[in-house]
Parts: sequence; structure tokens; C-alpha cells
Amino acid sequence: DQAVARGVRWMRYTADMEKESAWRLGLATELDQAMAAGDIWVAYQPKLDIGAARITAAEALVRWRHPERGMIPPDAFIPALEESGRIADLTLFVLERALADREAWAAAGAPLAVAVNLSALLPSDPAFVLRLEAVLRRHRDAVPHLTLEVTESAAMTDPERAVEALHRLAALGVALSIDDYGTGQSTLSYLKRLPAREIKIDKSFVLTLEKSRSDQAMVRSTIELAHELGFKVVAEGVETEAVLRMLSGFGCDTAQGWHIGRPVPADELLARIAPKRAAAG
Ligand code: C2E
Ligand code: MG
Ligand code: MG
Ligand code: MG
Repeated sequence: DQAVARGVRWMRYTADMEKESAWRLGLATELDQAMAAGDIWVAYQPKLDIGAARITAAEALVRWRHPERGMIPPDAFIPALEESGRIADLTLFVLERALADREAWAAAGAPLAVAVNLSALLPSDPAFVLRLEAVLRRHRDAVPHLTLEVTESAAMTDPERAVEALHRLAALGVALSIDDYGTGQSTLSYLKRLPAREIKIDKSFVLTLEKSRSDQAMVRSTIELAHELGFKVVAEGVETEAVLRMLSGFGCDTAQGWHIGRPVPADELLARIAPKRAAAG
């Protein structure tokens, strides 16, 4: 009977969902072991300064190669780490790695800036901010070359609290960037109250730029207004030369995406950048 069949399907479905979500939450208990074993590592995606036609920075993107499950995308395990209170530990692991890799690049003749992603909850977590401060004290020279990317939603959940928290981070000397701009409800005039000087236009607007006139209008006018308000603009998700040209025409400052470079291990990024620097003298 159909109703029974539907019921059985539904039960199987919810059982699978429960198994999946239990497994995801369980990931948090494997975090320390995974960090120690090298299963969690950091990939870097280059950021192209469009005007200078040069790679000037790289974004750290965390990777987890699970011994049984293979590669787990960050969107799958970061929420679990947030829920279980382990996200600060992961973030500081990524940050330490990124600062060490940046130091190695600089020593090898590729003085790139580096960006690290911060979960929405972290800027207003006092314990995290204290630990962050301690890390930055140990890497004083790196601080002027470090950007923290916070999502637009982080800035919006509790605007008053976010403004305060982000000012505290900025006071440590790091640059702040608003990630995934355009996916939330914030206006540039609200973001203007934050100590961020960069916005990253979400890839959902950039991927379709060639075909979508409305995305072109949105991206062009966002860039213009952002510039008037004193923000630099990064476009993420640049997959083609045509989109890069279009963004260049709009006056976009920085581009990131598969067309420029996929996220790769630190030494691969260096191998790509350093020979060019050496050749240019
Ligand atoms: P995000 O910071 O907005 O990073 C951009 C995402 O777009 C990355 O996915 C990147 O690999 C992907 N991407 C870059 N260029 C292209 C492109 O041309 N086309 C397409 N289709 N995609 C592109 P990824 O690495 O899976 O990361 C997803 C999200 O996970 C990140 O979004 C960020 O919010 C979060 N994340 C990554 N690493 C960390 C971390 O260390 N800490 C925290 N809290 N979040 C992280
Ligand atoms: Mg980011
Ligand atoms: Mg983004
Ligand atoms: Mg994102």
C-alpha cells in the first residue's frame, strides 16, 4: 500500500540523515588525531591584483582527508566543529600554519599576504580573541600581511556586538575582509561601520557574470559604490578569462578563482610564484 511504502521510505531517509549527522558530529572527536596525523592541512588559493597583473596574496582553505571517507569539504565539517565548540582550535591551527607558510614564502622571495577564514561565532568569543592575540604576538612581523575573512552573516547576526568585536580584532593590527558579500542582508553603508577595508563579492554572482545581465549590473554597481565608500573589492569564483576581463573593465581590484589558480599546497603555490619573482629580479 502506497502510504506504507512512503512511510518506510521516509523512515529509511530519516535514518540515513541521522546516521549522516551523527557521523558529522562525530568528526569533532577525531579533530586532534586528524591534525596530529596530517590529515588536516591547508591549501592556498592565489589572489590576483588585477591592475598590477600579479599574484599578491593567497587565501588559506582548510582540507581534511579522512582515512575512511576521503576528502571531506569544509562546508561539511566546519558546521560540526562549530556545534561542538572545536572551531577555535581548528582556526588557530590553520592560522599558525598559514603564518608559518607565509614566512617560508617570504624567505624564498615571494612576500605574499595571506588570508584566513574566521567562523561567524569567533570574533565575539573572548577566549578565542585572547588566543588569537597570543598567536599574533608570536608572529609580530606577519601581522601587517594577514587578513581575516569574516562572512557577511557574521557581521549581521548581532550587528552591535559584531561592530564591537570586529573593532577589537582590527585593533590587533590585522586587516578584515567581508566574505561572501551579496548573500546576506547587509548594505554597504552598514558594512562601512565595520573596520573592514575589503569586500569579497560572492562567487554566486561571479560564476554567471558572462550570461547574466542582472549579475553584471549588481557587480558593476557594487564595485562602484564600494570604491566610493573606501573598500577594495575582490571577486571570487573567476573561472574564465572573459569574466576576468569583464571585472577588470568594472574596475575590480582583485580576482580569485579557478582561472587564476585552484587551491594548492603551500610549496606548489611557491613554485608557481617564486621563479617569476626571481626572473623579474
Ligand atoms: P570561502 O572562504 O568563500 O572560499 C571560497 C570557496 O570557493 C572555496 O571552497 C574555494 O575552493 C571555492 N572556489 C574558489 N574559486 C572557485 C571557482 O573559480 N569556482 C568555484 N566553483 N569555486 C571556487 P572551499 O575550499 O570548499 O571552502 C568553502 C568554505 O569553507 C569557504 O568559503 C569558507 O567559508 C570555509 N572555510 C574554508 N577554510 C576554512 C577555515 O580554515 N576556517 C573556517 N572557519 N572556514 C573555512
Ligand atoms: Mg574566504
Ligand atoms: Mg567567499
Ligand atoms: Mg563561502
